[in-house]
Amino acid sequence: MIQHSGVAVSPGIARGKAYVYKKHTSTAEHITIGAADVAAQIALYEQASQKAREELQAMEGGTQEQEEILRTHISFLMDEDMIEEIRTEITQNHKCAEWAVETVYGQVIDMLDASPDPVFKERIADFADVRDQLLKELRGERSTGLEALSEPVILVAKELLPSDTISMDPAKILGIVTERGGVTAHMAVIARSLAIPAVAGISGVDEAITSGTELIVDGQTGTVYSQPDPAILEEYRKKAQAFDRQRQIEKEYLPKPACTADGVRIETKVNLGSADEWELAAAACSDGVGLFRSEFLYMNNDHLPTEEEQFTAYKAALEALAPRPVTLRTMDIGADKQLPYLPLPHEENPALGMRALRLCFAKPDVFRTQLRAACRAAVYGNLQVMFPMVSSVTDVIRAKQLLAEVAKELADEGIPFRADFPVGVMVEVPSLALMASQIAKQAAFASIGTNDLVQYLLAADRDNPDMAAYYQSFHPAVFQAIRMIIEGFSAQGKPVSVCGELGSDPRSVPILLGLGLRTLSISPARLGEIKYRIAGMTMAQMEQMAQDILAMGSQEEVVAYLEKQPHQADCKEQTAGRCDNV
Ligand code: PEP
Ligand code: MG
Repeated sequence: MIQHSGVAVSPGIARGKAYVYKKHTSTAEHITIGAADVAAQIALYEQASQKAREELQAMEGGTQEQEEILRTHISFLMDEDMIEEIRTEITQNHKCAEWAVETVYGQVIDMLDASPDPVFKERIADFADVRDQLLKELRGERSTGLEALSEPVILVAKELLPSDTISMDPAKILGIVTERGGVTAHMAVIARSLAIPAVAGISGVDEAITSGTELIVDGQTGTVYSQPDPAILEEYRKKAQAFDRQRQIEKEYLPKPACTADGVRIETKVNLGSADEWELAAAACSDGVGLFRSEFLYMNNDHLPTEEEQFTAYKAALEALAPRPVTLRTMDIGADKQLPYLPLPHEENPALGMRALRLCFAKPDVFRTQLRAACRAAVYGNLQVMFPMVSSVTDVIRAKQLLAEVAKELADEGIPFRADFPVGVMVEVPSLALMASQIAKQAAFASIGTNDLVQYLLAADRDNPDMAAYYQSFHPAVFQAIRMIIEGFSAQGKPVSVCGELGSDPRSVPILLGLGLRTLSISPARLGEIKYRIAGMTMAQMEQMAQDILAMGSQEEVVAYLEKQPHQADCKEQTAGRCDNV
């Protein structure tokens, strides 16, 4: 038996025979063509592009995530600018079609690669994939073969490109193991959407494992066993059963309102990263949207989104969710979220610099456009607005002043709008925790952004892997800060929620509720699991946990304490929340 350790990217346990997938790749031919061949090469390119498009269209009908990838790839093929550039490479630079395609896609890939933003880097795989599809069509090569698998296998590969994950038949894929890719890679997103256990980050895996080898893939711990021994086989048979049982329970809890075992109703909202239909559908079993990340409109664009573009997206979300609330977070750009079309001056410490609300103040026209779109969209549903990176009472007053000015402008123009919606703050900067009751006088609600709060509280860069050991979400100081925020806002009768990742972690949920939170905004994928977790304990138990943790001095102590708590997956007969108090 050989044990390989990687990164768990899609939960579940798979057992089966390996199929090692090696993709044939070759570089484009570089032929300088004569003027007489230009028309023929352009025709070749156009036919290849048409063929690639038809192949992608023929794959439609998969999961929402697969459809999303297909739409993106088709849009690349139809991108007017890229088409024009490829034609120019052929007509003016006399490159053959293969070379022209390679050049233009290569330029885009180099540009994305130079970006410091990981979101842009993730697009590289898509462009490389479409380029390879075009080259394949230009050479008249046949497709890669994943769609022709005859029996269910565990797919082992150096890397799976988006087109691989789309073309594979999910019924034939028991599990996935790769060298490249992480939790946010396409492969991982698709694997999770298809409930296929997957592990990435195992270096040289496509050489170390041969097709036909018996494997176990543990998508919980990131471990892969090659030729497992009988003891491991037995252990995993039991683990797989427990996992299936847990999945079933989560499915049952998903549509129910979240309640503690003693019937206290907890609002479970979701965090959304777009207004796409499938994202909105993910909110169906929630109590609304607690974090609508409006930055997607800025990041997935090559220009600042216009008022109309924003209005359309906000209206779609509000109408889809009404009467449930949608909490729009205003532009959170800067630091880790850069826009190539809006270059910002170089800063030594961008996380402590021109970002989010600060950038909005520096570019009031950009901010006003967003506020106008929000006020206009507010007519169509239950809108709430919150500002990110607030660090003082002055920030809130200034932002609300701009909102009031925009409302007056719309009234003067006779444009339908509403500006009477709740306006809150994200608590990400520790100063707000220390003076929560003063902030609460100016804000209708608080939503705690623990991802940034932890970074600023513990002075540990959230994006620097070398600082991961210092970035401690379970540090007692984090819970102390949350307690202060809840106390300060409760004193003013104002609600508090958590929208950072800590709220989506089943281990921290009882602590957060024990500290007094009654609203969480979490990743949609976690809804069933978190509702189940909430139903497993009484409020008194959660309060006791919170008290115990507040007395601790280190993350190690907190984690050790949590590990000793009875795990809910094992207490089958737990009292399901009945929401008696609702
Ligand atoms: C946060 O900081 O917790 C948050 C939700 O915002 P983001 O992760 O987008 O910075
Ligand atoms: Mg943040």
